[in-house]
Amino acid sequence: MAEIHTHGGPSAAGRVLARCLACGARLAQPGEFTKRAFMNGRLDLAQAEAVCDMVSARTGAALAAAAHQLTGDLSKELAAIRERLMGVLASLEAAMNFPDEDTERGQALRLSGDVAFAVASVEKLLGSARAGKVLREGVRLVICGKPNVGKSSLLNALLRQDRAIVTDVAGTTRDTLEETADIGGLPVNCIDTAGILTPRDPVEAEAVRRSHASIRAADLVLLVLDRSRPLENIDFDLMADLEGKDVVVVWNKADLPEAEGILPSVFESAEVSARDRRGMKELEALIVRRITGGAGAGNEILVTNMRHAEALRRAAASLGEVRDILHGNGPAEVAADGIKAAVHELDAVTGRDADADLVEQIFARFCIGK
Ligand code: GDP
Repeated sequence: MAEIHTHGGPSAAGRVLARCLACGARLAQPGEFTKRAFMNGRLDLAQAEAVCDMVSARTGAALAAAAHQLTGDLSKELAAIRERLMGVLASLEAAMNFPDEDTERGQALRLSGDVAFAVASVEKLLGSARAGKVLREGVRLVICGKPNVGKSSLLNALLRQDRAIVTDVAGTTRDTLEETADIGGLPVNCIDTAGILTPRDPVEAEAVRRSHASIRAADLVLLVLDRSRPLENIDFDLMADLEGKDVVVVWNKADLPEAEGILPSVFESAEVSARDRRGMKELEALIVRRITGGAGAGNEILVTNMRHAEALRRAAASLGEVRDILHGNGPAEVAADGIKAAVHELDAVTGRDADADLVEQIFARFCIGK
């Protein structure tokens, strides 16, 4: 039995490993265990990719979505769509071999209905891809407003820590500050911007320019307004600038008496106090709803993988054409080709029909030991 040294020299585990390697064993390659499960048909490709996603998940919601994908629900849904399409393909091929004018029209309409159903199913999966993208990449949430309305305090409240400096000197935040918060399990990159004001010097002018640039690149903007003071022109200008963007108005300082003449805004809004955290839960729920569009809240399937989303997008495009061809009584051969193309895309997701290079590429992204 090997001696165990705790000081100097390799650890016991290291020595055992070295001995195994010397005897002819080799280290597992990245993703090798999962790849074997895939090769032996125990997992399909989408499930195998879920293992990788679970390892790299940054938040609880991302982990839950990957775990859900590992159960094979996405694969089952794709199998059901595939089966429907194979039925349509069989009917089309029979019709091509034994044309019968009388029944052809009625059959084409029935098949077009079947294809429309498949299109709707694929599009529903695609609809979940926005929430999936959020889970994968996070989302850019920009906090803006004029100085001293409580932007930095709100950032701290979202982060549940004191990251930004809060003072009552207007214009303290001279630059944008970025931190990732876990909001309802979603990775949200919160960006606190310098207060929007009429600049008094070149530094302020540059800070305001950067704030506007952040706002343009935002997925969601929180416009912070001080509910305890009357609105000013600069608040109204900001609201006008934000038209067309995804905006939530945050009426801050709800712990203070409300100023007179506060009007409901055209944007969806929440009342909070960044100081005593009142209303923060509701604001966070609102942020999550706005980011995900409501998807991902329940147990439904989420497409979180870009490769899957791209393949599904191509499948939906082919199927849309097939549906129109059948509806317009167009050539069955062209429709059949479109169905085959769509089935090929679905099979690329599950790995039933994925080329070897792609499979190699996917497993190369895994870490060792999985
Ligand atoms: P910013 O300039 O918009 O980033 O604002 P800060 O977060 O620096 O806050 C400006 C001032 O408002 C500070 O004195 C904060 O303590 C105060 N403040 C921020 N949020 C609240 C709040 O919810 N209630 C009250 N009463 N004061 C707040």
